Amino acid sequence: MPDWSARVSVVFQKNTPTFMKVYRSAINYLWGDIIEKDIPLKRLDYKYVISSRLVYECFHYLNRDRCNESLVDISGIQLDENLIIMERMEYLQHDTQTSVYARSNLISTYKTLMKIDTYGGLLTGVFHIHPGKGPESIRPSVTDINDQMRREKVGMKAIGAIFSRDGFFRFFSKELGINIEIVGKGVKKHDRHLYQLENTCNL
Ligand SMILES: [Zn+2]
Repeated sequence: MPDWSARVSVVFQKNTPTFMKVYRSAINYLWGDIIEKDIPLKRLDYKYVISSRLVYECFHYLNRDRCNESLVDISGIQLDENLIIMERMEYLQHDTQTSVYARSNLISTYKTLMKIDTYGGLLTGVFHIHPGKGPESIRPSVTDINDQMRREKVGMKAIGAIFSRDGFFRFFSKELGINIEIVGKGVKKHDRHLYQLENTCNL
């Protein structure tokens, strides 16, 4: 495990309630093995609404580096008990990036979660891209599932999505019941959580 405590304590001095809440979220998000206790989610099916434009923007952002994986957080709002709106990309710095793996930086993650919390929003998604093409290339890896499980165990409602280099994308969760609604044009639905961008050259 990285020496996160030393690095973070230099940057952040105050142990305010908001600091501690968001700081714990950042730690849990990245290294859920140090969480103190699980926070069970209510057993609801959550509906996530995202615009096709945001999906396209995420794809082009993640696909800009053709050699390495990268991650992007999606912030949003919860409109009622089971309706979540995915609103915008939150850019992250990375500690590690290879062709098959990416890990975000703790300080960057903390700042992102703090900014989301400032406006009363929530982390609604963590999207990344895989190196291959076609639907078979975007099945969640063991690492993807474990990362998702850590987020869900601490009560986060952020779902995963994986893009292929040719514009397929798949949403996934571990235990969360999720229904996706993509609003707008330019996206073809293949099955419940598998979609395809109809034109990967636009924007
Ligand atoms: Zn992956």
